Amino acid sequence: MAKKIKLNRKHRVCRFTGCRHVLSIYNLQSYCHVHQQVIISRDMPLMSLDKR
Ligand SMILES: [Zn+2]
Repeated sequence: MAKKIKLNRKHRVCRFTGCRHVLSIYNLQSYCHVHQQVIISRDMPLMSLDKR
């Protein structure tokens, strides 16, 4: 089984699971503009809500 995986830099897709949005060559992010915001909002907790 000689299966070659082509890594074409000019054809990158969003890393988000299930998303096949093709990224622009000028887009340095790993996600499309939609999921990029999803990832950011995940990583950044909303100003630490005070839950007491
Ligand atoms: Zn996406």
